[in-house]
Formats: sequence, structure tokens, C-alpha cells
Amino acid sequence: MLELSSKLPDLGVTIFSTMSNLAQKLGAINLSQGFPDFPAPPQLLDALSRATRGGFNQYAPSNGLPVLCGLVADLYQQRDQLCLDPVSEITITPGATLAIFCAIQASVRAGEEVIIFDPSYDSYAPSVQLAGARPVHIALEYPGFSVDWNKVKDAINDQTRMIIVNTPHNPTGTVWTEQDWQQLIELVHDRNIVILSDEVYEHLVFDDVRHISAASFPQLRERSFVVGSFGKTFHVTGWKTGFCVAPPPLMQLFRQIYQFVSFCGVTPIQVALTEYMQLHPEHIHQLSSFYQAKRDLFNTELAGTRFQWTPTQGTYFQNLDYREIRPDLDGLSMCHYLAQQHGVVAIPVSVFYKDPPQNIHLLRFCFAKKNETLIEAAHILAKV
Ligand code: GLN
Repeated sequence: MLELSSKLPDLGVTIFSTMSNLAQKLGAINLSQGFPDFPAPPQLLDALSRATRGGFNQYAPSNGLPVLCGLVADLYQQRDQLCLDPVSEITITPGATLAIFCAIQASVRAGEEVIIFDPSYDSYAPSVQLAGARPVHIALEYPGFSVDWNKVKDAINDQTRMIIVNTPHNPTGTVWTEQDWQQLIELVHDRNIVILSDEVYEHLVFDDVRHISAASFPQLRERSFVVGSFGKTFHVTGWKTGFCVAPPPLMQLFRQIYQFVSFCGVTPIQVALTEYMQLHPEHIHQLSSFYQAKRDLFNTELAGTRFQWTPTQGTYFQNLDYREIRPDLDGLSMCHYLAQQHGVVAIPVSVFYKDPPQNIHLLRFCFAKKNETLIEAAHILAKV
């Protein structure tokens, strides 16, 4: 008799599927799941078409197209003056989520502990559990979402094998400062702790905020997996193509797992990204101002609303506090209310916590949308 039970019995369908399905069912404006509703650059789409028709349809090298790994290395050189070896320190993967999964499987064993800062992207904890390890959730200080370093210090013990960092941060939009990184360096320097730094929104920082990569600190680089996503950077989340950066000893462990999880990333997508990055270096340089204009448009059009907010520092998410409108509703109920009564779908920040704070009334809105979508949504929200 067949007897199987779930390895993740406490988890249902992800919030991203749930909310996008709700938006579709209701015909509502979908500002929930993070993806652009505008087209990718035509030159990138043409490059993909040329790649498939040009015969790039068989397996890529397992570690990624060497020329694309080289372009990723160039970006670190330009931004952080870092000299990465594209052959031994960079792997292209089918999405950042899969890179996160492989980095965890490569370094964490059953019985060990992984520190996760809540609210957190929803794939971290299940990936830790599937390694047989224990996620240790530390809540960021609400409402500013800073790290309480004393809590981190207290949580670290001999079982702690990894700390997962995400900056710019989904869902709060906060960005780690030099001081945050220095605190982390101090806590891990004499310990057997790996850092997994999820930097998929690295090119989406606003105003005078600067993204600082874990890889830019020599003390962290030697113990860090840094993960990025071409999907976010080039407006093609459905292409599910990302990368992992790690020093050779860590990368060897990563690749050992990765070769059996996927073997390689999608070939024509890597060819297309290579061509587009070579011909259009301005794309990345203009990305922050492109998204900052969208953030500002959304925020300006919300003028007069009873929602409250601070402009987001990074990512393409703006959180709005609804305590003045419906303090009686929890986040999920507020999202259902907004979807059903007003036709706009968001995601409650509370779902990104293991134990959400009692007084949290925040909703996450994705502003990676056409200007007309943002204006329409903001006008509806301004009247709620
Ligand atoms: N990262 C995206 C978000 O936060 C969605 C990713 C996904 O659907 N798994 O909305």
C-alpha cells in the first residue's frame, strides 16, 4: 500500500499563486506578485528569437555560458572593483530561487540551524527544512525593519551554519547599510557560519541609497553565496534565469548539488541575455531611475489617501499602512476586502513572518507596472 506524507506539512500554496489567481478570477489590478506588466526590451526579445532560430537549443555548459559568466564578473568589477573569476566563482542557474535552494543544500546538514530575518521571502524556510535543518526566525524591528544585533548574537550557537541576508529586502524595501554588514562580520568572523546573500534587487535602489554586496567585504566573500536574478534586472521574471557567486571552495560544493538539480540553465536565454548585455550596457545603469520614477508616480498619485507610507528604498515594492482605514482587519482580510470591494490586489506583509507582530497593518504593492496601471490603481486606493 502506498503511504506518502508531505515533507512540508505546515505549508499550503504560496501567497504569490494565491493572490495572482485571485486577481485573475476577479479581473482585478494585480499589484501582488512581483512581476512587470510591461514588455521586456524588444532587442532582448529579438535576441531570444535569433538564439532559438540560430540553433542554440541544446544543453548549455553546466556552469553557464562562459561569456555570460564573464559579463556578470564585469558588473562586479565596475560596481565593487571586485575581481571575480568567471570560471570558478560564477554559475548561471534557472532562477535565483533554485540557486538559493542549492546553496542551502550544499552547506547545511540535518540538525543544523539557519538564521532567517522575518519578514522573509517564502522559499528560504522550506529549503532549509528540506535539508533537515531548522530555520531560526528573527523578526526585524517593526516598524523600521532594522536588525536587532543582540538578538542575532543570542541566536548564534554551535549548530548555526548559515545566516540568510536579503538586501534590497523583499517585502520591506529596506537596504542594508555598511554598519549592518560590519555587525554581521563581527558576529561571524570566528565561526563556521556561511552567509547566503540574496541580492536579486541589487540594481533597484533609490534616492541616495547604495546597494552593498556581501561579496564586497573580503571577510564575508570567503564565506558567502551571493545570488542574483536576470529576471528582475531585465523585466523577464518568467525567464527564470539567475546566478550564484561564491569563492571556489564554496562554489565546488554548490556545483556538486546543482549539477543534479538542474545540470544547466536554459541555453537560448543565456545567449539572448549575453547579446543584450553586450549591446545595451545602459539598461542596468538606467534601471534605478526607471523604477524610482514608477515609485514616485505611484506615491504621488496616492496623495490624499488614508494609507500611510515611507517611500521604499529599494526593490519594486511599496508598503502601505492601512491602520487608519480598517484597523479591525488582519492583512489577509484587508487584501481580500481590497480585491473584492475595490478591485486591487496586494500581499499582506504579515504572511512573510513565522510569527507576525500583533500590530502590523502593512500591505505590499508591486509598482513594476505600466504607468497607466499605477495611476488607475492609485486612484482607486486613494478613495478607499
Ligand atoms: N519574488 C516575487 C514576489 O515577491 C514572486 C516570486 C514567486 O512568485 N515565487 O512577489
